[in-house]
Amino acid sequence: MNLKTFEELKLSGNLPSPAGVGMKILQLTRTEEYSAEEMGEAIMADSSLTGRILKLANSASNSGAEPATTVSGAIMRLGGRTVRDLALAFSLVSERSAGTCKGFEYDRYWSKSLARAVSAQVMTRVLGVGKPEEAYICGLLGEVGRLALASVYTEKYAVILTDVELCQNLPELLAREDAEFNITHAQVAACMLADWGLPEAFAEAVESFCGSKELAQAGDEINSRAMVLRFADVVGRACVADRTVRNMEWVEIGDGLELLRNHLGLDQEAFTRFCDTCVAEWQAWGESLDVATHTELKFSSIFTRITQARGAVERGEDDTPEAVAVVAKATAAPGGESKPGEGFKVLAVDDDPVSLKLLCKHLSNEGYEVVTARGGKEGLKQALSETPDILIADWEMPDMDGIELCMALRRTDAGRHMYFLLLTGTESEELVVEAFTAGADDFITKPFIPRLLSARIKGGIRLARLQRKIESDKQTMMKQVAELGVLTRKLRAASLTDALTELPNRRYCMKRIESEWASIRRTGRPLSVVMIDIDNFKCVNDEHGHDVGDIVLKETARIMQASIRASDEVCRLDGEEFLIICKNTDESECQVVAERVRAAMEANVVMHPGFERSVTVSLGIASSHGGYESVDALLKAADEAVYLAKDSGRNQFRLASELVAKKTSA
Ligand code: GH3
Ligand code: MG
Ligand code: MG
Ligand code: MG
Repeated sequence: MNLKTFEELKLSGNLPSPAGVGMKILQLTRTEEYSAEEMGEAIMADSSLTGRILKLANSASNSGAEPATTVSGAIMRLGGRTVRDLALAFSLVSERSAGTCKGFEYDRYWSKSLARAVSAQVMTRVLGVGKPEEAYICGLLGEVGRLALASVYTEKYAVILTDVELCQNLPELLAREDAEFNITHAQVAACMLADWGLPEAFAEAVESFCGSKELAQAGDEINSRAMVLRFADVVGRACVADRTVRNMEWVEIGDGLELLRNHLGLDQEAFTRFCDTCVAEWQAWGESLDVATHTELKFSSIFTRITQARGAVERGEDDTPEAVAVVAKATAAPGGESKPGEGFKVLAVDDDPVSLKLLCKHLSNEGYEVVTARGGKEGLKQALSETPDILIADWEMPDMDGIELCMALRRTDAGRHMYFLLLTGTESEELVVEAFTAGADDFITKPFIPRLLSARIKGGIRLARLQRKIESDKQTMMKQVAELGVLTRKLRAASLTDALTELPNRRYCMKRIESEWASIRRTGRPLSVVMIDIDNFKCVNDEHGHDVGDIVLKETARIMQASIRASDEVCRLDGEEFLIICKNTDESECQVVAERVRAAMEANVVMHPGFERSVTVSLGIASSHGGYESVDALLKAADEAVYLAKDSGRNQFRLASELVAKKTSA
């Protein structure tokens, strides 16, 4: 897993994360020393979360049992672990905010995620394998990596999303993500789930699901979870499919559904009922979580659509966006040169419907996108939600007049720079002064002369363009500042990395071990270290030169890295000396690690012209349970154990505890 890049993403502060109760639960359960009561209390602080947990605890899988009416009842039924994971997932959905990545359809993302979640849940229930609630969580968070990349790399990811073909080709999409961000959405998802403390099996299943569309038959647990996700995803795709879905894609969805039908062993009628159950659950959950769903959806019509699509594909009918665009162009009205208003949005506010209609017609003819409001208050609301480039408002309106609207708008961030054109009945000096004092940019008398209005609006457009330019310059600057931040982090990382072997360096090693040392004082867990020194390394340098010596060092680093466990960390201390930090590991477990490294080194032949042989190492183990007073004492003991190994003929590991035993017996 690409942990370093994930840490960088996390540092950006833009990764989706649960807040409020979710965050509290996350913190509470980071250590394993929390009680079910504490968690129950945290959940109950949020009544809607409580409701959702109870709903799931009482859903069909548990029919027959007495309904759970309290959070502690739900914890008893589902297990503390599951309730915790559900609370996290729910709070993540509730925290969602509309993001800014263009082309990323946030509503559709959550809608589909929810459809996948409930389908995975229903499927697990029907198949009778695994826990439905766990499938629900994996389904809900299955594509969280995409959301994360869109949240962190809003602009770069938006560019990727414009390439429709790329997005439909999963291996290519993953390769592109890897090239651009050094991490794929599959990896990000897995890292996030792991970071939230969800079970490792979830992270692995989600990564496997994101990494491949294959609906292979499953063997082990991870595979079968991933397969449920892939099947559920097909149902999800069908649920959120709209008119933009092309025939080929419908055929693909149809094929996926057919595989699922066979897998479930259902006939068409029963399968349609199964799918409709998923839809019903989707709608119910959508209401509860405030996620959009299709209220009228019936799978019978989806199957009809699939049949139509199959027919069209067999007849070779082309409905790709390119083909559709060609047809549209051919049938479009002639003389389509661009109009002055194209690309700009105008909000027209007037209480008089006739006058509003006139204004609207004129603006539309000029090519503006027009939004209307029938009064000042509605106008203010529209101005803030639609953020038009230009606002044209009547002066006299009963609920809130044009001047009041202008002043209110100027007090908001979004409305401060909006071009404001006031429509007045008369053109008295006093009124004009009042309008400009209130913050209006220009005014025009009513009934307006169309050509004059056009000219005035054009002036506004020029300013709006300028405003946009300033905004985009500001964005560019902010992006540069952000990139500078990433660079700083990279430099910081570099100062902790050894340039030759790319392993963490002595500085990092010392920081790391000090912090581990502090934490074992609290937890009482064991910590062991393995000090490693290459045997007769001077001879390599002397006989083959320093360059070959460097190659051997790099190779040694690679072999060590490959033979340790994921939770161990190997660092280069100095020259040809290395240290492995083994968290949560006592002396006897540490011997297994040391022996694996020793054997791997002995077995590996370094291939270099003129130098084709293996290099061995001597290793010394020291463990915190040896009663050392400080990190220094621990490292010194490991060093002494290395000397013992050297004295005993090299290519072996020895224990610091042997030396203690010797000293006390002497
Ligand atoms: P022993 O088995 O007793 O450890 O014998 P040794 O020859 O390995 O002895 P020692 O540990 O004292 O040797 C360390 C050598 O490592 C000396 C130094 O020239 C070499 N060395 C240290 N850093 C580097 C490096 O970055 N590159 C290369 N090529 N050699 C290095
Ligand atoms: Mg009026
Ligand atoms: Mg040495
Ligand atoms: Mg040596």
